Amino acid sequence: MNIILLGPPGAGKGTLANKIKEEKDAVQIATGDIFRYNISNETDLGLKAKAYMDRGDLVPDELTVDLVWDAFDKIDSKDDKKIVLFDGFPRTIDQAKALDLGMKERGQKIDQVVYFDVDEDILVERISGRRVCTNCGATFHVKNNPPKVEGVCDVCGEKLIQRDDDTEKTVEKRIHVYNSQTAVLIDYYKDQGILLSIDGTNSPDEVFDEFNDKLGEIS
Ligand code: AMP
Repeated sequence: MNIILLGPPGAGKGTLANKIKEEKDAVQIATGDIFRYNISNETDLGLKAKAYMDRGDLVPDELTVDLVWDAFDKIDSKDDKKIVLFDGFPRTIDQAKALDLGMKERGQKIDQVVYFDVDEDILVERISGRRVCTNCGATFHVKNNPPKVEGVCDVCGEKLIQRDDDTEKTVEKRIHVYNSQTAVLIDYYKDQGILLSIDGTNSPDEVFDEFNDKLGEIS
């Protein structure tokens, strides 16, 4: 089952993806994580992507679409039970069209799109307080979900950092980019009859429950 997690930065896509992976047979394709991996390994792709990401802009489609297929084609079994989560992809209409086409070529389809409905004020507060583990990727929030020891990951004990693009100024740019380039995908998938809306202002557990309830109703 192929599921897209669609929503603005800070909506909780990654948090829901982690919960789904803990409880179900699921894999996640997170384009932002793939870019960050390439940046830390100083690959050509990483060097190219970094400038866009630091500004809060989207990385061009031609650098993004192929790496999604590389990741998708590496997943060994794609039966009805295995969940593939697209987190942060697609972000433009052209990416959505490329995804539809590539799915068709592979005899697959996007089954559901989970749209996170969240107010903008909450997003800025959530992202600018977010801290991420440099080792295991666990996320915390300075106020809403602080680590036991400041600056140290509860899960693996490594250092927590603020992502370069999680500063207040860049966050506002990223929300603007979402509104101008990505939000159109809500109607794109509504028209296909596969959009499922969830309240992203709720806690991670409530979001997970709503996801399970709504997915259960349709599958
Ligand atoms: P994320 O981790 O999903 O918040 O993504 C961080 C940054 O990576 C974004 O602000 C973009 O610069 C870049 N990025 C991630 N996914 C995409 C995508 N599908 N298309 C273009 N740029 C992307």
